[in-house]
Amino acid sequence: MVEQQSMADGQRSLLAASEDTYRRARLGLLRQPRRIVRRYLLLAIAWLATTDLLLASVLPLTHGQRWLFTVAKGALFVLVSAGLIWHLLRRSLSDYLRQERLARTARQDYARLFASLPVPALLVHDTDLRILDANTAAASALGYPCEALIGRHFEQLAEDGNALVPLHAGHSTILLLRRADGAELPMQWSATTVDGASTPRRLLVGVEMTAQSHADALHRMLTATDTPTGLPNRAWLSTRIDEHIRTVRAQRFAVLLLDLDHFRSVNEVHGHAQGDRLLRAVATHLRNLLDEHTLLARFSGDEFVLLASTASSGEQALAVAEYAMAAVATACGQMDAIAAPSGCSVGIALYPDHGGDADSLLSAADLALGLAKRGGRGRAQVFDPPMRLRETRHAELGTHLRDALRTDGDGLYLRYQPQYSLHDGSLTGMEALVRWRGRRDGDVPVAELIEVAERNNLMDALGSWVLSEAAAQLARWRAQGLYAGPLAVNVSPNQLRSDAFVELARAQMRDHHLPAGALELEITETVAMHVGDGVRRRINALANSGVAVVIDDFGTGYSSLAHFKRLQVCKLKIDVLFVRNVHQARDSQAIVQAMLDMARALGLKTVAEGVEQRAEERWLREHDCDAVQGFLYAPPLREDELRQHLASRRMAATGRADAPAHERES
Ligand code: C2E
Ligand code: MG
Ligand code: MG
Repeated sequence: MVEQQSMADGQRSLLAASEDTYRRARLGLLRQPRRIVRRYLLLAIAWLATTDLLLASVLPLTHGQRWLFTVAKGALFVLVSAGLIWHLLRRSLSDYLRQERLARTARQDYARLFASLPVPALLVHDTDLRILDANTAAASALGYPCEALIGRHFEQLAEDGNALVPLHAGHSTILLLRRADGAELPMQWSATTVDGASTPRRLLVGVEMTAQSHADALHRMLTATDTPTGLPNRAWLSTRIDEHIRTVRAQRFAVLLLDLDHFRSVNEVHGHAQGDRLLRAVATHLRNLLDEHTLLARFSGDEFVLLASTASSGEQALAVAEYAMAAVATACGQMDAIAAPSGCSVGIALYPDHGGDADSLLSAADLALGLAKRGGRGRAQVFDPPMRLRETRHAELGTHLRDALRTDGDGLYLRYQPQYSLHDGSLTGMEALVRWRGRRDGDVPVAELIEVAERNNLMDALGSWVLSEAAAQLARWRAQGLYAGPLAVNVSPNQLRSDAFVELARAQMRDHHLPAGALELEITETVAMHVGDGVRRRINALANSGVAVVIDDFGTGYSSLAHFKRLQVCKLKIDVLFVRNVHQARDSQAIVQAMLDMARALGLKTVAEGVEQRAEERWLREHDCDAVQGFLYAPPLREDELRQHLASRRMAATGRADAPAHERES
């Protein structure tokens, strides 16, 4: 296809060049008579105005002599002007002949190239597609002599029914043609406008297809609409964006990529029929936003694209995004039976700043969308060039991380953060937190590590490494009599999408002889809220095998505890957001109080995360929170640091010097 296009482009420029030379030569010739007359007039006027005066001043003549001189002067004038005209005519004609010779050579080159093109090519009239020229390959493909093709209309060659498929310049179209002998001839044609020519023309370059590739391509064309929503699909969209760029050229516009939040869980929890229903509802509501300046397509799965041709700045595009997000929220709100998705996230790219064609604009919008989703969903984000740098860094980190995981976690290690009881100050738990010091990348922040792992499909491998490492460490501590309580690892949603993780957890418990409750898995509230049947089954299977399930970052997901009735959860970790200054912040107090009450009613243990101040600790103890974790006691520690920390605490506890505040206060 690319080859076909560049061949067409080459043809076009050669043809245009020959046309150009020819036109210039003709124009030049038409201008000559005016130029010649102008010079002749100048000469005549100068002659008349000067010669008599000159004669009179140089030679004082008698009347008879003057008459003689006038006759001689006239004869001289005729001679000089005849010479001038002869010279000018000769020069312009030889100019013309030279230009014409050049044009003829260019035309011959063009004709030779056109004739010898190895693929069928036709030169047609721009509007009625009348064939003006046909090459040998076209003649032999179609089974006509060249001369028989010239003068026909291109459509007369096409099978009924597909005759009028538009052959837009810059596009390729699949047509079923009829050969002279009646046989069917599937071909793909691409059209290029030949500019510079006096009559508007188009060059069509064709590629013959097999019956199968024709059927496949036709199928692809016909499926330009998407089934559940009836919206045009991704292929159509890319073509339209590119077409739009060709039409508007320098004018700015925006491409918005919308992604429904938590759509996967709708499919998983409520089934695909409900998923399709939701997509249809979203499509209907988005369609209501459309005007003649906006296009809508379904991009893939739960992604939609809006092309807003009048949004020429980030602010304007964000305003369109607001409308779209409101429309999606309304659509979601109407899905009575489905509680899951609450709206959508939007990534925005602007033409021409963020990309010069459909592909680069959509990839920019996709990068922006990724950021919007990671930033907490329900947001719109305009693309920013540093995002591409981040993308490159993430791709590199992904490769390095893959290598690290292949070489038994080279550079990966765990830090451990203890949790202490608010009732008696004892060590009640420990959380394992992953760290990565890449050999080439230095310390990689955890959030970035998790993001890189997720985007490179390495979360399973990383999660397995963390779990195995934590289980092995716990077994060593138990053997050494250092710590025998529970050790928690964090689990991301993807790890629970297959049974492998459940099997691994069971194997680790078995191989290291760990009792029930020794390993804990922390699942964030947001994930726990949207689990489908499969994930719920796996979580409960883990709980039944003695792996305790903890809800992490509780309070950020706005879920009700009723959500967890069907999940075998044993602990809630109250998010740092509510713990921060809880002793002063009235709204946090109300929320934390409610969480603690509900947890107690459901028989769940509570841990407050991120405790940094004694006053926070005091408030939490007064309100019956069970345990605390935070910098106030210890940051996440390396294994050797943890040993020191535990030893010094033991010493302090015996000496009562550095016991937790409540111990000192009591
Ligand atoms: P998280 O599970 O909620 O972990 C608690 C985070 O709070 C840790 O950040 C910890 O360093 C930090 N933290 C602890 N005490 C305090 C405090 O007093 N004040 C404040 N401001 N922060 C405190 P970290 O280690 O950077 O981990 C961030 C998140 O990354 C974790 O949040 C967890 O969601 C994720 N993560 C860490 N390790 C893993 C892992 O092995 N697997 C998975 N899937 N996620 C992990
Ligand atoms: Mg955690
Ligand atoms: Mg947390």
